[in-house]
Amino acid sequence: MKPFDYIRAPSVGEANAAAAAGAVIIAGGTNLLDLMKLEVMAPDRLVDITRLDLKMIEAAGAGLRVGALVTNSDLAAHESVRQDYPVLAKALLAGASGQLRNKATTGGNLLQRTRCPYFYDLAQACNKRAPGTGCSALGGVNRMHAVLGASAHCIATHPSDMAVALLALGAAVEIAGRDGMRQIPLDAFYRLPGDTPHIETVLEPGDVITAILLPAPRGGGQVYRKVRDRASYAFALVSVAAVVRVEGGVIKEAALAFGGLAPKPWRDPAAEAVLVGEAPSDALFAKAADVLLAEAAGVGGNDFKIPLARRTLAAVLTEATGGAGR
Ligand code: SF4
Repeated sequence: MKPFDYIRAPSVGEANAAAAAGAVIIAGGTNLLDLMKLEVMAPDRLVDITRLDLKMIEAAGAGLRVGALVTNSDLAAHESVRQDYPVLAKALLAGASGQLRNKATTGGNLLQRTRCPYFYDLAQACNKRAPGTGCSALGGVNRMHAVLGASAHCIATHPSDMAVALLALGAAVEIAGRDGMRQIPLDAFYRLPGDTPHIETVLEPGDVITAILLPAPRGGGQVYRKVRDRASYAFALVSVAAVVRVEGGVIKEAALAFGGLAPKPWRDPAAEAVLVGEAPSDALFAKAADVLLAEAAGVGGNDFKIPLARRTLAAVLTEATGGAGR
């Protein structure tokens, strides 16, 4: 591992200043330390933010404010999360292992890097790690890769389960920047790869994520289903988070988000609109899948994800609407 300097930030402002000067922020370190050991990332300086007062889970209006340093384990176990945002608790418990969830933080979970194997292999071309070198996944082993939102420069997927549930719940990211605090809806937080896949979010130099903001509970049927190669400690081939409210036999509200399909947690308002105002049925769920996957395209090894996403969406909607459609 390349030698590096290490400092602890005593305040958010000093973390801002250090990050703006080029330091990489570390909290749980569950992804960053692996990247540093492999020299995929080789920062000259780390700024440790774990002493900052960002471990709160507190009411914020009718919703919840979750500090960036709350661990994935504590968030999944919190009574309000389990009761009012069960899709989030389920997604968190589907991620990583118990040991990792005890260390991984809410802010770090959002910023974890892709698990594309070529990104981690310095001998391989990778536009995300080394811009302009090419994409080894395009002609390589690509069964884990994206079928929506990818580009000719990068087809990596985003690995977070938590972010998929947060997207379905309509969460926002609270950020302390050098010019003050701001909030960004999660669906505007991640960038698609285009021709700059190394730029993954809209964060600016010096920005520190301070919290996640959850809106008022939406109720309804809440489901998170993760299809993966083994039952634990594996990343999603396809995952679906659903928050669906049915009244009088009709779907009144539907929020869907997808993991494993795209370079960022994926949401498609047009697919959701297909469902609203209709009675749940297999035919309706198939129509929503048609809209969701209309632009989906595989590159060979990942072609199976398109029918897999279709089947997973149907199963999740069946469960979220109380068994209708089967
Ligand atoms: Fe790199 Fe993206 Fe291609 Fe993977 S898919 S090799 S991360 S450019």
